Amino acid sequence: MCNWNTYTYDCGCLEVRLRDRCQAKLADDDMDPCLRMQRVREEWRYHQGTLCDECQRRRRRRAGPGGEKGSGGSVGGSVLDWGEVASRAHAEAVRLAQSRSPDM
Ligand SMILES: [Zn+2]
Ligand SMILES: [Zn+2]
Repeated sequence: MCNWNTYTYDCGCLEVRLRDRCQAKLADDDMDPCLRMQRVREEWRYHQGTLCDECQRRRRRRAGPGGEKGSGGSVGGSVLDWGEVASRAHAEAVRLAQSRSPDM
């Protein structure tokens, strides 16, 4: 199975990145994750304490040119429960694995 790092952000978004490929995949040169089980774990979760790129962009666009400076503003900063994060991260990992499959 392939292992994924999970990055969580203050905005509630998350991102997953491939951490280790499973043994079956290590044998071949292809860097893509396989379509077998994708695994996320709480130890591999890294909370970024900031907004994700996407939300930062959106926020800047909303502020307009010359608008809001700095990161300012409260985003709650609440850290999501791992159970919820895990299911979203897993779904994302599966989606990524599938989107990289050669028969797309
Ligand atoms: Zn795998
Ligand atoms: Zn976000």
